[in-house]
Amino acid sequence: MQGLMQSQQLTTAMLIRHAAINHPRREIVSRAFDGTMVRSDWASLEERARRVAGALASLGLAPGDRVATLAWNRLPHLELYYGVSAAGMVLHTVNPRLFPEQIRYILEHGGARILCVDPDLLPIVAPLLAELHTIEAVIVLCGEADMPDTRLQGLIAYEALLSATAPIADWPEIVEHAASSLCYTSGTTGNPKGVLYSHRSTILHAMSALAADSMALSAHDSILVVTPLFHVNAWGIPYSAAMCGAKLVLPGSALDPVSLYELARDEGATFSLGVPTIWFAFCDHLERDRSAAERAALRIDRIFTGGAAAPRSLIERLRDLLGVETLQAWGMTETSPVATVCRPLAHQSALSAGDQAELRARQGRAVFGVELRIEDDQGNALPRDGEASGLLKVRGPWVLNAYHGTRPGSAIDADGWFDTGDVARIDTDGFLQITDRAKDVIKSGGEWISSIDLENAATSHPKVAEAAVIGVAHAKWQERPLMLIRLHPGERCSPPEILDHLSGQVARWWLPDDIVFVDALPHTATGKLLKTRLREDYGGHYAG
Ligand code: ADP
Repeated sequence: MQGLMQSQQLTTAMLIRHAAINHPRREIVSRAFDGTMVRSDWASLEERARRVAGALASLGLAPGDRVATLAWNRLPHLELYYGVSAAGMVLHTVNPRLFPEQIRYILEHGGARILCVDPDLLPIVAPLLAELHTIEAVIVLCGEADMPDTRLQGLIAYEALLSATAPIADWPEIVEHAASSLCYTSGTTGNPKGVLYSHRSTILHAMSALAADSMALSAHDSILVVTPLFHVNAWGIPYSAAMCGAKLVLPGSALDPVSLYELARDEGATFSLGVPTIWFAFCDHLERDRSAAERAALRIDRIFTGGAAAPRSLIERLRDLLGVETLQAWGMTETSPVATVCRPLAHQSALSAGDQAELRARQGRAVFGVELRIEDDQGNALPRDGEASGLLKVRGPWVLNAYHGTRPGSAIDADGWFDTGDVARIDTDGFLQITDRAKDVIKSGGEWISSIDLENAATSHPKVAEAAVIGVAHAKWQERPLMLIRLHPGERCSPPEILDHLSGQVARWWLPDDIVFVDALPHTATGKLLKTRLREDYGGHYAG
C-alpha cells in the first residue's frame, strides 16, 4: 500500500525559497575583497541568486553544466551557491591553496564551462587558462571599476553582468537526484577525485546538521563561517543556515586570529566552525593578547571542528578561555562531510570536566542516516568494544557511491559500504575514535601504534604547539615511531622531558624512538599534517 503524502523533490531551490520567505531580513555579513564589510540578508541573497541564474542562462548555460569557483568566503560566492545549483547547474568549488597543477587538473576534470574567480585569486588561474579548453568565459567577482589590471581578454565583471540581467522569475523544477555541487578531495593520496553531491544528499545532510546533538543550529545563531566555501561546501553551512534562518558571517580571506576575534565580537557570533589549526592559533591569540573582559565579549558558545583530530588540550583551552562547548566531528569529502559528532550522552553528564574533555577528543557517534562498521584485514566485522581497531567503512544517503567520471557503484562494495581509508575503534556507546589513516598507521613488530594518540598525548604538554608522528623503517621492528615537534614560540624542551610526559599516557612500546624539534611542520591545503612530506624527509631516520 502506498503512502498518500506529497512528494516534493528535495532541492537547494527549496532552501533558498524558504529562507527568503521565512527569514527575509536575517542578515548575511561579508568581508569584501577590498576589506570593507558588506551587509545583505536572505531575501536579497535570493533575488541576487535569481539574477545569477538569469546571467548564466544568458551566457548559454543549461541544466547540468558546471560552473567553477575559485573564491573565498564572500557574498558573491554564496550567491553562486544558489544561483548555480538552484537553477539546475552544478557548482564546482576549487581550493585556491592547492598547487597550480592540481588546480589545473581539477578544473579540467570537472569540465566547467564558466569560471568565477575572486579578483585577488585571478593571478593563480591566469597562467592556466590557455590549457583549460572547456572554460568559455571567466567572471571576476567584482564591479567594473575594480577589475584587475591584466592582459587577459574577455573577462566579465560580475556586478556589471548582474545589473544587465533580469532575475529569473522562479526556480525551475529539478529532480532531487540531479547533481548540485562538485568538490574534489585534496589528493593527499594520488590524483584528486571528484565527489558529486546531489540535491537530495545536500538537503538530507543539511537537515541532519541542525539536530540538537549535531550543530544544533537555529534562527538565533550567528555563524562565523571559517571553514572555506571551497572545502566540502563549508561542511554544509550555507544550506543548513538557509534551512533554519541563521545569520551568516563571512570572513573573506582574513582568517588570522585578530580578524576572526573582531568579526566574532562585532557580529555577535554564537557558533563557528573550522579545522583544529585555526583554533590552535585562535587560542594562542586569546591567551597572549586578549584580557578576560575582551574574551568575555565573545558570545560564541559552540565550536564545531573536524578535518583532523582535535586533541583534548585544545578542547580544554577553548573551554577555559571562552566557556565554549567544542563539538568534534568526523567526516570526509566523500561523506558530505558530517558523519559523526561528539557530544557526551545523558549517562556521561556526571563525568568530571577532565573525563568529559577526554571523551570530546573522540570523533563521536554516527548521526542518524550514517552507519559505521570496522573490519579486520579479511573483511570480518570487529566488535564495538573500544579495543578492537580496524578499517572504517560507512554508508548512508549522503555518502558517495562513485567518483565523478567513474562507473556508478564503483566506490562501494556489494553491501554498499564505502572504505574510508581510516583506522578506528568504536566503543560500546558507539563513540568512534580515529586512530590513524590506513596509510599512516605505524606497524611495529606486527602490532599497530596510533600516530593520532601519540600526537594528542604530546600536544597536552604545555610547551608543545604541534606534533606529528610517522612510522620510520626499522631493522628489527619493521617500523618505529618518530615524533616531530613544533614548540610554542620562545620555549625550550628536550626529548626526555617529552618522553616522560608521554609515559603515563601511552603503552611503553609506543614511545617514539626519537623526537626531533622543528621550526615548522608541513600542512596540506586544508590544514592537515602533510605526512607524505615528513616520510620523504625522515624516512631514513632510523637507518644504520
Ligand atoms: P582528504 O581525504 O583529501 O585529506 P578530506 O577533507 O576529505 O580530504 O579528509 C578526510 C579525512 O580527514 C578523514 O578520512 C580523516 O582521516 C581525517 N579527519 C576528518 N575529521 C577528523 C577528525 N575529527 N579526527 C581525525 N581525523 C579526521
